[in-house]
Amino acid sequence: MWLNKIPMTDRLYYHDSFLYDFEAEVREFTETPRPALILDRTAFYPTSGGQIFDTGMISTEGHNLRVAEVTDMEDGRIVHYLEAPPKDLKPGTRVRGQINASRRRDHMQQHSGQHVLSAAFVRLFNMPTVSFHMGDDYCAIDLDTTSLTKEQVKSAERLANEIILENRPVDIRFVSRDEAGKLGLRKLPPAERDQLRLIDIHDFDLSACGGTHVRQTGQIGCILLRKTEKVRQGWRVEFIAGQRAVATARRDFTTLTDAAALFSAHIYDVPQQARKSLDEIRTLRKQREQSLEELAAAQAAALLAETPETNGRKRVIRTFADRDMNSLKLLAQRLTRLSPNVVALLAATSPQPSLVFAQSPGQPFDMGALMKQTMSTLGGRGGGSKDIAQGGVANADGIESVLKTVSASIDL
Ligand SMILES: [Zn+2]
Repeated sequence: MWLNKIPMTDRLYYHDSFLYDFEAEVREFTETPRPALILDRTAFYPTSGGQIFDTGMISTEGHNLRVAEVTDMEDGRIVHYLEAPPKDLKPGTRVRGQINASRRRDHMQQHSGQHVLSAAFVRLFNMPTVSFHMGDDYCAIDLDTTSLTKEQVKSAERLANEIILENRPVDIRFVSRDEAGKLGLRKLPPAERDQLRLIDIHDFDLSACGGTHVRQTGQIGCILLRKTEKVRQGWRVEFIAGQRAVATARRDFTTLTDAAALFSAHIYDVPQQARKSLDEIRTLRKQREQSLEELAAAQAAALLAETPETNGRKRVIRTFADRDMNSLKLLAQRLTRLSPNVVALLAATSPQPSLVFAQSPGQPFDMGALMKQTMSTLGGRGGGSKDIAQGGVANADGIESVLKTVSASIDL
């Protein structure tokens, strides 16, 4: 448990986002519920304002403690959660903190990129940003707007990248809340604070923000807008900046190249080729259905011709080696439609062992009941109506002998 009345942590990142290495003193540490440290000062950024936490190392003589997560407490203290509990760490111990610099740089590119992008949407279309999300893969802003076109997305992306190319200075300023009110901020924080920290992208954007930011917009590198979707409060725009944008573009290209190789086509022709293939599949499927119907009709006629009538009925009993349930049903329907006095007991041993029982309308048996009985013998699932029923079993053994038993039971 944390003590009370410990002063808030001095946030070194407030003044220098590029400070990756610092010295501090341990204020408190705890092992429950997770090993964690509070320092007098820190350069570690805690998850807040949409930006995710830094990771890195806190070391004392002989001990390196990995920082797994950093959070902000309501009273202004910053908690560093450690991967393993510290040894012999007393309040007052001097430590050295080292931030994972590539992770921090990535977060700066995403967060500064977000400020530029949000300002671009306001300048071009008067669409304010209502929330910002930074994940490990992508970032997103939610815009307060009822509609968003592809052209608007392209224009905002273009303006944001122009501001990046112009390499404008990005300054950190501290002002009173009254002063901030006169400066025309893009967004004023709801919390009542005496002093506000402002991120000033020269002549483009001024926002209150506690995050870590680049020194010049050029350090953002580039910004790439991706998926947009309608959400409850407006439109969500996914984006990525800097090295993330390059890494994602690389992954997209690899994926597209793999898809193009399947079609032996240029990457830009992939949608057209895929559409063509889908059309072909649709046509072939239709042709296959028609062929199956024709085959079932021909086979039904042949079976009826070779089956003698017994007690005024034709009993067609067949087990096929390779036939799916649909083909069995098609054949059963043809048989019972072609002749008014047919009982068909059909089965297939593969690909899925299956059975179909059917009778011509007006015949006296109950196919559904016969199928249920058969399934309880074979251990499968099935059922149906009085005139047609189907069932599936796990194993084809025993199908032949069961068909004989069923046949004998309706030998009237
Ligand atoms: Zn911000």
